[in-house]
Amino acid sequence: MKKLIVANWKMNLPALKPWKGFRVQKKTEIVICPPFPYFQNVKGNLPGFKLGAQDVFWEKSGAYTGEVSPAMLKSFGVGYVIIGHSERREWLNETDEMINKKVKAALGAGLKIILCVGESWVVRKRGVSAAKNFVKNQLARDLHDVKNKSGIIVAYEPVWAIGSGHSDKPSDAAEMARFIKSLFASSKSKIRLLYGGSVNDKDAASFLHYKEIDGALVGGASLKVRELKKIITQSYHN
Ligand code: PEP
Repeated sequence: MKKLIVANWKMNLPALKPWKGFRVQKKTEIVICPPFPYFQNVKGNLPGFKLGAQDVFWEKSGAYTGEVSPAMLKSFGVGYVIIGHSERREWLNETDEMINKKVKAALGAGLKIILCVGESWVVRKRGVSAAKNFVKNQLARDLHDVKNKSGIIVAYEPVWAIGSGHSDKPSDAAEMARFIKSLFASSKSKIRLLYGGSVNDKDAASFLHYKEIDGALVGGASLKVRELKKIITQSYHN
């Protein structure tokens, strides 16, 4: 399976000039998720990269100030959307119920969803089984009543590893990846599984070489052009 690297630029716009002339090899899929106003900049400057959004709303249109619908994203050439990022769960009080509505609306509009799940440090301190149990329940709530799971990408992002500079142990992330994939074993459509949490150019390869980890969701390191280029290059060899 092709590796997938998703760059979450959060509320930042890195310099785009250094990407001039950079070509993505077909063996990897690269998705850039800039803040909404910068879709056009990414489209114009990064040929070969795919476009993703960092969020979406569940309604089609109407009096929902500040929100963007799945169809609006689609019509702009956006193919992917991050849903349920832990920063939104924390800062915007996004609940699993809201995330579930977003998942259904985005899938219904034909977007590929990148659903973020992961345990806090309080949970992880209790051990890997507690973390697995937490993630299993979170997935059950976020995907409640979702019949067709094709196109779903699950990003396992332990909350304590995001933006902390301390990635999970690659072997632990791979164990969780195997576990999450086993939860979908009865479903006809295979899911793709990304690891996210302080991935950088030094450790990306150690995650990507596991066959159950299909790629990475990269935040901070994706803002540094040289670092992201190195991560992309590592994805060619894993
Ligand atoms: C993220 O934003 O999903 C993320 C994983 O961030 P970072 O790589 O900075 O931990």
